[in-house]
Amino acid sequence: MRIEEDIKLGFKDVLIVPKRSALKSRSEVNLFRNINFKYSKFNYLGVPIIASNMDTVGTFSMAVKLSKFNILTAIHKYYSIQNWKNFIFNTSKYVFDYIMVSTGISDQDYIKLKIILSLSSLLKYICIDVANGYSECFLDFVKKVRTDFPEKIICAGNVVTGEMVEALILSGADIVKIGIGPGSVCTTRSKTGIGYPQLSAVIECADAAHGLHGRIISDGGCTNSGDIAKAFGAAADFVMLGGIFAGHNECEGNIIEENDKKFMIFYGMSSKNAMKLHMGKVEVYRTDEGKSVKLLLKGSVNKTVLDILGGLRSSCTYVGAKKIQELTKRTTFIRVLEQENKIFN
Ligand code: 5GP
Repeated sequence: MRIEEDIKLGFKDVLIVPKRSALKSRSEVNLFRNINFKYSKFNYLGVPIIASNMDTVGTFSMAVKLSKFNILTAIHKYYSIQNWKNFIFNTSKYVFDYIMVSTGISDQDYIKLKIILSLSSLLKYICIDVANGYSECFLDFVKKVRTDFPEKIICAGNVVTGEMVEALILSGADIVKIGIGPGSVCTTRSKTGIGYPQLSAVIECADAAHGLHGRIISDGGCTNSGDIAKAFGAAADFVMLGGIFAGHNECEGNIIEENDKKFMIFYGMSSKNAMKLHMGKVEVYRTDEGKSVKLLLKGSVNKTVLDILGGLRSSCTYVGAKKIQELTKRTTFIRVLEQENKIFN
């Protein structure tokens, strides 16, 4: 039995220290990044934030809206081929620069992925997504997709340790998605005892990825723009958000009315809700690893996006980063035992 004594940290265990800066205004901060990739020749130019491929959040409407802010959406894998055809036919080409096509790793998933990609050469991103990225068959699937689609930007996950990040990049992933257990509607840590505090996972996995010219996404655990800034400070290339983007008009979820207020149900992709919806039942050999919550409907996602971008610009100003890319080298984390004053919460 080996216990690693090194303490691993989450977003709530740290703050970023302010630094002297020559910036005069938040408006001087550039949140765009131009990101190149190990395998694909395409570049990403935009704000490096991604709406999660959860079926309530990674929707076509979300993609149309977020593309206006140059933010990516990982479209969930449950749309039918016909849904995709309609979307591709009716949507401005510009939106395609900000879309990832998600897939699982079954044979059926792969057949569907190939059909979707054949509908438009403008679809550049593939997001291969499994809850546990530690299986040999996952690596094999990534290799197969890289061989069949040498030109695409391939993202694969989720993992939380450097050796698996390296294995995925060497198997053909341009981007590795990091996060096991930090999500807002995730119960993996309590159901299985498995996980890794997100800030440390990002720091360690970014180091492993960048050495091989790979990229990472910090996926899950951000509760506000401060956490997003910390993820970038920890060297994430992209940050993926589920809960922050949930409960908006652009989401697809059941809306219920109670006492004249409208709520939307938001659930984990491994929750009973999701399994019943997509598989008809929860198989007897497995348990759910996600929960459902009821969110007060938040209106259009525009306001939330502006709030996030404003918060990030302010983080950059506090540390003197003129570009979001500079946030990492301008960040010094301090470990803390308190975050904020909760007297009025
Ligand atoms: P959030 O931004 O809401 O904190 O985290 C979103 C991420 O949580 C998703 O992108 C996905 O990686 C993860 N996630 C979504 N649903 C589930 C679930 O049911 N179980 C687990 N373990 N993780 C989930």
